[in-house]
Amino acid sequence: MTTEHAAAQINAWEVAQRQFDLAAERLKLDEGMRLVLREPRREFTVHFPVHMDDGSVQVFTGYRVQHNLGRGPAKGGIRYHQDVSLDEVKALAMWMTWKCAVVGIPYGGGKGGVIVDPKKLSQKELEGLTRRFFTEIEILVGPEKDIPAPDVNTNAQIMAWMMDTFSMHAGYTVPGVVTGKPISLGGSEGRNEATARGTVFCVIEAAHHLGIEIPKARVAIQGFGNAGAIAARLIAEEGATVVAVSDSSGGIHAPDGLEVARVVAWKQEHGTVQGFPGAADITNAELLEVDCDILIPAALENQITAANAGNVKARLVAEAANGPTTPEADEILHRNGTFMIPDILCNAGGVTVSYFEWVQDLNRDHWTEETVNDKLRVIMVKAFGETLEMAHREQVDMRTAAYLLAVKRVADAMELRGLYP
Ligand code: GLU
Repeated sequence: MTTEHAAAQINAWEVAQRQFDLAAERLKLDEGMRLVLREPRREFTVHFPVHMDDGSVQVFTGYRVQHNLGRGPAKGGIRYHQDVSLDEVKALAMWMTWKCAVVGIPYGGGKGGVIVDPKKLSQKELEGLTRRFFTEIEILVGPEKDIPAPDVNTNAQIMAWMMDTFSMHAGYTVPGVVTGKPISLGGSEGRNEATARGTVFCVIEAAHHLGIEIPKARVAIQGFGNAGAIAARLIAEEGATVVAVSDSSGGIHAPDGLEVARVVAWKQEHGTVQGFPGAADITNAELLEVDCDILIPAALENQITAANAGNVKARLVAEAANGPTTPEADEILHRNGTFMIPDILCNAGGVTVSYFEWVQDLNRDHWTEETVNDKLRVIMVKAFGETLEMAHREQVDMRTAAYLLAVKRVADAMELRGLYP
């Protein structure tokens, strides 16, 4: 079975709830608290019209879900993808709650999505869709309530339109309503690279723990968007050899290594990494099974499943994507001695620098890239260390450890606030 087929059959929300149930059970969480945390607080569905370039009107469907607001306002990206569903957004929102808790930033979890293939829209249509969608979800969002950000297929330009839409309705500029904005509009230095940088900080910590020498390590990366392409560059800068990369069209493999900058240029010119000179074309499924030391899934959910986990050769898996591994695959990897850096820890660099951006916006401040990266390193190294310590103390795998930390922090916050009324 291809990874695409396997992924389509697995429900991300069921996966997210199962991961939570495992942690709740181990924490012996109170039954009432379990019932609260296993469902999202708010799920909002909108159907909205957009003027298309050919003069027609098309109606799109989008979602904003707030999973939990116990530790602060909802935080999480908005993705544009043809396969978006309410269940996927619910899962992603729940993962944001745990992610913010693992790294200890004062947010709850939220997520949004629109069912659309943005590659099929013109810039004008993309702007129209963005402005109308943001208008529709405006009753939920705001710098004190719910702060969106980029995710799959959304970027700084789209955040600029969202910020402008909200600001036009408010009558004044509100930079803190979204993060991941262009620098000139209150965006933070280092935000664009933050997800990948956080992943690489975690990989360095894990490699140290496992005795892997990064300059001798071979790395395979699935996904060549904001997380994957930048992770490829940053890990190569650490001296590692990137042997395989892929995008939604497929991948490329070169056992002696790929020159990342040239692959980036090739993708820019040809729209895909495939066909890169000197490398063999492979499928996305094959990429996961490539002979390598470090595997970085940086694309979509449910890629490593019971069907292929046994064929993963990497000693270290670093989840730059959200939800790339199913619970069955987790068990297989753990049994095979693969060290996992789970998504809620591994890709938390993005939301961490989003938090820095929001703090700068609220304070009308602007930090240097060095300050941002230093603060990011401190947070990621601390979160990695706390997770590893929990894994040792409780004799559990790294995902369970990260969940134990996160769920406990959220449950404690909820407990202290008490049940209203
Ligand atoms: N979309 C990113 C994530 O999944 C970033 C979210 C944010 O910055 O709020 O973590």
